[in-house]
Amino acid sequence: MGKVVVGLALTVAAAACAVAAVVVGRRVKSKRKWKKVLGVLRELEESCDTTVGRLKQVVDAMAVEMHAGLASEGGSKLKMLLTFVENLPNGSEKGTYYALDLGGTNFRVLRVQLGGTRSSILGHDVDRRPIPPELMTSTSQDLFDFIALSLVEFVESEEDGINTSRDRDRDLGFTFSFPVKQSSVSSGILIKWTKGFVIPDMVGKEVAGCLEQALSRQGLNMRVVALVNDTVGTLALGHYHDADTVAAVIIGTGTNACYLERTDAIIKCQGLFTTSGAMVVNMEWGNFWSSHLPRTTYDIDLDADSPNPNDQGFEKLISGMYLGDIVRRVILRMSQETDIFGSVSSRLSVPFILRTPLMAAMHEDDSPDLREVGKILREILEIPDIPLKVRKLVVKVCDVITRRAARLAAAGIAGILKKIGRDGSGGLTGGRRSDNKMKRTVVAVEGSLYTSYTMFREYLNEALSEILGEEVAQHVILKGAQAQVARAISVFWS
Ligand code: ADP
Ligand code: MG
Repeated sequence: MGKVVVGLALTVAAAACAVAAVVVGRRVKSKRKWKKVLGVLRELEESCDTTVGRLKQVVDAMAVEMHAGLASEGGSKLKMLLTFVENLPNGSEKGTYYALDLGGTNFRVLRVQLGGTRSSILGHDVDRRPIPPELMTSTSQDLFDFIALSLVEFVESEEDGINTSRDRDRDLGFTFSFPVKQSSVSSGILIKWTKGFVIPDMVGKEVAGCLEQALSRQGLNMRVVALVNDTVGTLALGHYHDADTVAAVIIGTGTNACYLERTDAIIKCQGLFTTSGAMVVNMEWGNFWSSHLPRTTYDIDLDADSPNPNDQGFEKLISGMYLGDIVRRVILRMSQETDIFGSVSSRLSVPFILRTPLMAAMHEDDSPDLREVGKILREILEIPDIPLKVRKLVVKVCDVITRRAARLAAAGIAGILKKIGRDGSGGLTGGRRSDNKMKRTVVAVEGSLYTSYTMFREYLNEALSEILGEEVAQHVILKGAQAQVARAISVFWS
């Protein structure tokens, strides 16, 4: 072999070695960064841990806080508000009822016809209107004039010329999902606005009074016979269909629950008397907190960045307003620590850009190449060309966050059941399981996370069975409620 040839061969060999070294180096680097990302994932999983043991601690904490909130005003983060609803509809109700629903971005007017037997809600009509944003920060008169005018138009179009006289007396139910200090089933003052409403002149005012004044300005004779929040409406509808319904839970933009409590257990209200011996209590459970709740650095940051830090802690782990944003924060961290998502997309730093329905769509993507995940990463987060392995990682993150949320909601429900002695343990005071024949127990559940997010619903149902045990769980039924009718049903307490 000549010198030149040897030289060439050596050069080629050296080049090959260099290429090999680069490839090996890349692999090592890629392995290292993958290891780092898996470390972030493992840490997330550990801090989102919801073993049955931990869930049972949350159950106990919920029951204890419920007691504390009933014992004294301000005794717990759970407000445990009185609703003055003593009786729930039983299915024999008849007639045509009107109802209004104000509690989020949409405002609804409804008319429901009831046939007098449990199975027959003959029909319902709904008019849904977005609330003009300027009215959310205007005056109470502007807001209620808008509501009253919408109702007038709806009543006139629905009744189609028959009995359309504005003078005719009609009863009206008003589902108003903001914190209200009630003084009767049909009256109460607004404690504070939430969900983007800022109408200072309204705080401390009688809600039903404001509405009735606006209605009379329109020449419409309607009387507010019930002022309730959405959980109470859901409980009422649940009870209308099934008399074993004892509690209702909302898991939508926010989360809340109410249940039927014995009046003698409402210690903070000495001398409270109802003919039924019971009253629906609005827990405002979104504000529940316990040191047993699994919390991550992402949750701590989300809370600190929120307009209401240290408030609504349970809600921030569970509800639709927040789940997508927790996932965004995890992806951002993974993206900052390695380059598995390419260079860090600026979109990942935009709060609430990954809304919960999009997160759910990624979680439930069942295409073999996770096409939906790729599409959402590309179109919403502007992260293109993500390999399948990384898409699977994103699905896993969604799974961890949703599973924790659903399991904690299940623990909350089990806490209510424990408080009212329907968890098979004989209540807080103890008692052997075999002493208590378990009664059939129904909990009505409303809100998009439960009704439209299958994985969430399945995780919740599964966790409730794990907490209660198979034997008890077979007596507990969670029933998805139809939101619109749940709101209309508020007219029953006339
Ligand atoms: P609201 O609580 O405002 O009365 P919903 O019960 O419909 O209304 O809940 C809305 C919340 O649920 C929003 O936060 C939305 O992001 C979330 N959401 C809506 N649809 C879905 C879905 N299919 N999967 C997961 N979350 C959803
Ligand atoms: Mg709702």
